[in-house]
Amino acid sequence: MPRPIKASIHPDAVAHNLDIVRRKASKSRVWAVVKANAYGHGIERVYSGLAAADGIALLDLDEAVRIRELGWKKPVLLLEGVFTNEDVKTADEFGLTVAVHSDEHRKLIVAAKPRRPIDIYLKMNSGMNRLGFTPENYQAAWARASASEGIGNITLMSHFANADEGSVDWQLEQFDNATRDIPGERSLSNSAATLWHAQAHRDWVRPGIVLYGASPSGQSKDISDVELRASMTLHSELIAVQTMRAGETVGYARTYRADGEMRIGVVACGYADGYPRHAPTGTPICVDGIITRTVGRVSMDMLTVDLTPCPNAGIGSKVELWGEQVKIDDVAASSGTIGYELMCALARRVPVMVA
Ligand SMILES: *Cc1c(COP(=O)(O)O)cnc(C)c1O
Repeated sequence: MPRPIKASIHPDAVAHNLDIVRRKASKSRVWAVVKANAYGHGIERVYSGLAAADGIALLDLDEAVRIRELGWKKPVLLLEGVFTNEDVKTADEFGLTVAVHSDEHRKLIVAAKPRRPIDIYLKMNSGMNRLGFTPENYQAAWARASASEGIGNITLMSHFANADEGSVDWQLEQFDNATRDIPGERSLSNSAATLWHAQAHRDWVRPGIVLYGASPSGQSKDISDVELRASMTLHSELIAVQTMRAGETVGYARTYRADGEMRIGVVACGYADGYPRHAPTGTPICVDGIITRTVGRVSMDMLTVDLTPCPNAGIGSKVELWGEQVKIDDVAASSGTIGYELMCALARRVPVMVA
């Protein structure tokens, strides 16, 4: 018998969330962002939920090839571009659209002499200061790209730094000023801007995290008015129950001490499964459909929960670590991180099924 832990992936939840995005940005086309192996879900596992997207955006060339091999005929965008001559050849062969954020990248494409012109997303650094041409250099970069052999259609692109907690207007203004005289489609909005900054939707939005039902801000309350569904459930079972007396402690470092007699459940899930070790006492968790809390340190293969609200729970009781009942954002926030990281960190040893 394997340990009772498993993850369930719900492609129908992704399809539902994609539909919500569509309605939020009804005038835009949608790139479904599936980088990092679909935010830890597995591209193949969510693929059926992506059918209604207008394109699929990701980072790794091998993921792009996998998408094509799955039969995807619509556009595929490499968000970080290509790195070698070989990459350009692969982009050419599989008909990939490529982000270009420096002149080296443009030259790489030209030098590879693609059989068909490669469509590009010309990236502006409008304030994020990671990738892209500065607003001052953008027009010239566009002019060089449009005069380049081997480069096809050019879409104007930028990325927001704080669409989840602040304004996008300071970046939007940079972008709009620098692109005023340039033709072509525009693409700026990640999930946060798709939900909260309609003025930035433009021609193509690029949602990632909302497709998986989590909050771009990391706070579940920020998406409480949007009916997103969790696309990943992490579940397990109780494998032991202890009754502690007043003053006794549970787990490593003895961080939790019982005030009085209490029942503690031991869950087959630990940080080696991808559950955050920093989850403190009080992190929400669900046992037999009842929300309770973790107590004590998370160890490698186990964690412990307070069974006070669930008097009928025992060995074999069902535990949800995150999913529809326990929001991944709430587990993440309690642990000092964001849902994105927890999804991406699901450990290889956890069996995954599509449900
Ligand atoms: C990751 C990424 C996105 C999607 O971000 P979310 O916050 O997950 O919606 C959009 N655009 C680019 C360039 C990205 O790298």
